[in-house]
Amino acid sequence: MVPAIAYRMVRTVDARLLWKFSYNFGFKGMLSVQRFKRELKKGKVFPPFLYISIINSCNLRCQGCWVDVAAPESMISFEDLDRLVTNAKKHGNSFFGILGGEPFMHPDLIRLLEAHPDCYFQIFTNGQFITDKVAAELRRAGNATPLISVEGREIVSDERRGRKNVLNHTLAGIDACIRNRLITGVATSVCQSNFDELVREEWVDELVKRGVHYAWFHTYRPVGPDPKPELALTPEQVLAVRRFGVEMRNRKPIGFVDAYWDDQGNALCPAAVGISHHISPWGDIEPCPIIQFANESIGDNGGDIYRTMTESTLLADFRKTAAQATRGCIVLERPDLLKDIVTRNGSRDTTARKRALAELEAMASRNSQYNPGNEIPEKHWLYRFAKKYWFFGFGAYT
Ligand code: SF4
Repeated sequence: MVPAIAYRMVRTVDARLLWKFSYNFGFKGMLSVQRFKRELKKGKVFPPFLYISIINSCNLRCQGCWVDVAAPESMISFEDLDRLVTNAKKHGNSFFGILGGEPFMHPDLIRLLEAHPDCYFQIFTNGQFITDKVAAELRRAGNATPLISVEGREIVSDERRGRKNVLNHTLAGIDACIRNRLITGVATSVCQSNFDELVREEWVDELVKRGVHYAWFHTYRPVGPDPKPELALTPEQVLAVRRFGVEMRNRKPIGFVDAYWDDQGNALCPAAVGISHHISPWGDIEPCPIIQFANESIGDNGGDIYRTMTESTLLADFRKTAAQATRGCIVLERPDLLKDIVTRNGSRDTTARKRALAELEAMASRNSQYNPGNEIPEKHWLYRFAKKYWFFGFGAYT
């Protein structure tokens, strides 16, 4: 399927954007992972893929969202973002995931992209603010891919996202990106209510027909103030999502991203292996987006994010304890252990609601992506190669 995807990309994406993607993300991203591996040997862990939630506000109200989107607005200032990216670049990073809330509600998002033409940004968005004008600005910046979330067909989308007519607005955002020749992705948090609608070949065919270049199927994680555990997938469904991804990436002319399985189909946690950590809209440095506890913030050590992260005892304790406990998600499987980690590190609750510890105590242990004996190896040589040599396998679980 690689020639077919390449053909689609060349026909539908601005050549300059393809070059930026190949060089800033593909080539430099690979170098940053190699550097990460070298640093690991010296005992330093600085994630090559930083995920930054730049604002807490959002126009939607999704089920199971852990971000305090209705709390007073907080955003990381342009100056702090600029300093953070500049510092990370000095240590080899070139890729940044941008999350929210809704990132397009941050007034300086495009300015940030333009300030760092040598980096690549993936913007996790609901797509509702992407008009042709915004898409044209993204094209001008050239170094970002919108990853637009679709949570179901019309009825399920409205139910999942707490507003009316959500799907049409989202599809309008996707179409604007495609018209403006951006590399465009669609993400779904697969749960009980959208599984039958979206984990199917027809949906992937629709995405291809629409012009979408890649898809990312996460699995729903019941966390936060209103976790809705009834939406969580069964172990069989999680396995089916994995099997579906492996099949689709082998057969369809569309990229399929996942971050929870290596080339052999062994489960992993990106935060436990140290390849990514998260920064909250309040500037707190957290193990991952759904773990809302921190000891450090981006302003510490004069804004030296490298020093702050590599010296963080919370992050180090989290990685070690999580990797020893499971290859899956410690939050889902062992909330009790996570509570021990944040308690013994004296970590602060980084939510606006200030109930994160009580929420953790109320969580029941459940299945995650770890399903020993049922590993599904990658079928496609490119994904096998990329996962084995560039993205995973850093010895965290040995
Ligand atoms: S702790 Fe769980 S949600 Fe967080 S990165 Fe690991 S697997 Fe993902």
